[in-house]
Amino acid sequence: TSAKVEIKKSVCTHCSVGCTVLAEVQDGVWTGQEPGFDSPFNLGSHCAKGASVREHAHGERRLKYPTKLVNGKWERISWDQAIDEIGDQMMKIREESGPDSVYWLGSAKHSNEQAYLVRKFAAFWGTNNVDHQARICHSTTVAGVANTWGYGAMTNSYNDIHNSRAIFLIGGNPAEAHPVSLLHLLKAKEENNAPLIVCDPRFTRTAAHASEYVRLRPGTDVALVWGILWHIFENSWEDREFIRQRVWGMDQIRAEVAKWTPEETERVTGVPGSQLRRVARTLVNNRPGTVIWCMGGTQHSNGNNNTRAYCVLQLALGNMGKAGGGTNIFRGHDNVQGATDLGVLADTLPGYYGLSEGSWKHWSRVWDVDYDFLLSRFGSKELMERSGIPVSRWIDGVLEDKENIQQPDNVRAMVLWGHAPNSQTRLPDMKVAMEKLDLMVVIDPYPTMSAVLSDRTDNVYLLPAATQFETSGSVTASNRSLQWREAIFDPLFESLPDHTIAHKFAVKFGFADEMFKNIEVNGEEPLIEDLTREFNRGMWTIGYTGQSPERLKLHMANQHTFDRTTLEARGGPCDGDYYGLPWPCWGTAEMKHPGTPILYDPSKPVAEGGLTFRARFGTERDGDNLLAEGSWSAGSEIEDGYPEFTMAMLQKLGWDGDLTDEERAAIDAVAGEKTNWKTDLSGGIQRVAIKHGCAPFGNAKARVVVWTFPDPVPLHREPLYTNRRDLLDKYATYDDKVFW
Ligand code: SF4
Repeated sequence: TSAKVEIKKSVCTHCSVGCTVLAEVQDGVWTGQEPGFDSPFNLGSHCAKGASVREHAHGERRLKYPTKLVNGKWERISWDQAIDEIGDQMMKIREESGPDSVYWLGSAKHSNEQAYLVRKFAAFWGTNNVDHQARICHSTTVAGVANTWGYGAMTNSYNDIHNSRAIFLIGGNPAEAHPVSLLHLLKAKEENNAPLIVCDPRFTRTAAHASEYVRLRPGTDVALVWGILWHIFENSWEDREFIRQRVWGMDQIRAEVAKWTPEETERVTGVPGSQLRRVARTLVNNRPGTVIWCMGGTQHSNGNNNTRAYCVLQLALGNMGKAGGGTNIFRGHDNVQGATDLGVLADTLPGYYGLSEGSWKHWSRVWDVDYDFLLSRFGSKELMERSGIPVSRWIDGVLEDKENIQQPDNVRAMVLWGHAPNSQTRLPDMKVAMEKLDLMVVIDPYPTMSAVLSDRTDNVYLLPAATQFETSGSVTASNRSLQWREAIFDPLFESLPDHTIAHKFAVKFGFADEMFKNIEVNGEEPLIEDLTREFNRGMWTIGYTGQSPERLKLHMANQHTFDRTTLEARGGPCDGDYYGLPWPCWGTAEMKHPGTPILYDPSKPVAEGGLTFRARFGTERDGDNLLAEGSWSAGSEIEDGYPEFTMAMLQKLGWDGDLTDEERAAIDAVAGEKTNWKTDLSGGIQRVAIKHGCAPFGNAKARVVVWTFPDPVPLHREPLYTNRRDLLDKYATYDDKVFW
């Protein structure tokens, strides 16, 4: 008899390109895999990593059942015993030392739904001690890019690189880290004659493909970029019209760049002035070009400065908001973008809502629980609004001040949920910290280094998680594009999907009813689609509202309609059809928004995925004072999403209460006049409060920008690291009401 064969579609889990995996399944067994031949991402290819996902999911070292370390030996236990014992210990620790004494370290390997649930879970447990791998890879990108133009993410897409006329790649080696993406670079090189400029201290496999290889001294990225800009400004090659229309603060950049003569740049970077002139000329003569970077640019103590400098280069060249241009930032894990967006971070809630009272109230409304309930879980407003310990510092939470167990930074239990410490520094310290923990829980499909690094002999639990191929859910590639994974086969052995594990813990801790109030739970497994729908309802800040599970599934099913003739007839690969549903994707009554393949593209209306939020980039200064950074140009969004969008904006501002009738009427009056709204927003800046300069002007850790407008709708940018209210009080003067 012939076995029933099905083809299921999933997404590779080995890097952020988001290549489609076609899985051949016979009677529930995953028997074969192929790349998505017509997917816009993988162009019919898988790299060696992607080609191994089936074997990886079936690896012989998969954890088969829960185990516990007792007297140096791993003993098999049941899930019930594991959850009971871990839960009892955690509740005791919580009672003695507060909720912050348990650290929930999440993962870029979770699906969006699971990442969201882990963040929500930490909130219900009552801590902001939750983080994931993004902290140690591209957090400097998020800070640098968000501070330049608003969204801390890739502005264009992998397949938009085909449109580039030049590629400036710095601090990345896609030939090894994102192999399929190299196809897109080479396509631009071959079909557009796009010069490929690779800047790297090492001659990598990617550099072997370069038209121009620039060997800079490690850590001299800013000097290198300033050195290129020196030639651009010296020869008046910058895009003056673009700068006039859309960039603030280029004069200050120009003044700084003037110091970086060819001689000075060569002294610092080791790159000859003549080569930098050639690079500058190449970039100017081949526009629009893209700038690509990866962790070679970010993992520096001045990583923010580097990423800001890369952005400034694109602004000087006028390459933003265009097909073929932008900053294409290659992230690492398959869902590091999504887990960041969904707030598995110590300093944000899902959607980059800060930890202000307003943000908590927003999410408590989405979760349909009382704000006071969440407050009670934290124990105090101060703890609720205080950033947790970033993953890079959790060790200190264990090692410092162990005597005083009332210290909120005193971490006594650690849950490493899809997170191995291999990529972190200070491994010797981590080993000691792990040994000092009262309790360690590792949740993973495999026994990772987390479980074996320390010399502990007791009280480590190793719980088997299912892989992403044994469950369904959405994943966000580096290009902000959400795709849906179909479950390919059932969880192996006794492994469980992460969302089921979260549910088990929530039941044990007694908050499952509140936490899953609006989520259907089948047995012990929460319905993934309901989780998507729930974050759709809350993620107004970055536009995760239009990617319903139905749309994502439909899109995945229809994705493979790519054909060259259609593509060329459409004038390029930038149509939304080919990108999954990249955020911002606004949820509207018709749910038709195509997503936004290219951020800040002024040539399209927002309803078609055009310009969103930022009209002007960069900085404006008055002496030492930074007057403004970026600009909101939100007008066109409301054509599609008012009043939800208006509410979202207010919520982003940390608005924490009901509007008075007067305030509501004022907003309605402005919003009702859509044209005026736009005009007012883009032209009505009255006042800006600032704190410090930002990289590349200095290694500032905090800043606040507050705008108030002729109408009573104030906007502000959220600072990344500190208490904005204090900063505002200190630095700003304002007459108009500011919502927090
Ligand atoms: Fe997987 Fe990345 Fe390779 Fe694509 S490039 S197959 S997403 S590892």
